[in-house]
Amino acid sequence: MSLEQRLKAVIRDIPDFPQPGVVFKDITPILKDQELCDAIVEAFAAQINELGIDVVAGVESRGFLFGLMLANKLSVPFVPIRKQGKLPFKTISESYKLEYGQATIEIHEDAFEAGCRVLIHDDLLATGGTVVAASKLIEKLGGTVAGYAFVISLDFLQSRGRLTRFSEEVVSLVS
Ligand code: IMP
Repeated sequence: MSLEQRLKAVIRDIPDFPQPGVVFKDITPILKDQELCDAIVEAFAAQINELGIDVVAGVESRGFLFGLMLANKLSVPFVPIRKQGKLPFKTISESYKLEYGQATIEIHEDAFEAGCRVLIHDDLLATGGTVVAASKLIEKLGGTVAGYAFVISLDFLQSRGRLTRFSEEVVSLVS
């Protein structure tokens, strides 16, 4: 079985979560299978091998899971991007639109040195709004978005188009 098939077999669809009408992709069953977790990290590492990544930035909260594993695998630092008010040190922030309302994410202002090549990781790409905001944070700190890595991408072509103004490299294991 391919990695994509193995992932599709365990990722659960949860109807009406967190609100009616939404079908939520639940990745928690992946975390019970250590070999599968390793295979995800190996696949990311192989596909971003050429990008010269200095830092992995993971988006709260599910982006922390494989983000830290991947950073360890690459022997580079991991940087958390969090929702507003969660990071304890000095931060910069970026707001973006949600279907209803808006959200704000933050990064520590000393997260990495200017000039670093940053890989942005999240569990899932939907509209791309979250990682576009994350990309702006990276650029505000003088970093370059070297690429993106997602476990799942919904509607890949459309949201991918929003990311390519920051980086051509968009890796996704399940579409
Ligand atoms: P976007 O900003 O529309 O691309 O939404 C992506 C963000 O929403 C990511 O941080 C995901 O963790 C989260 N998200 C949206 N839908 C799902 C889902 O079905 N499963 C898991 N996370 C989701």
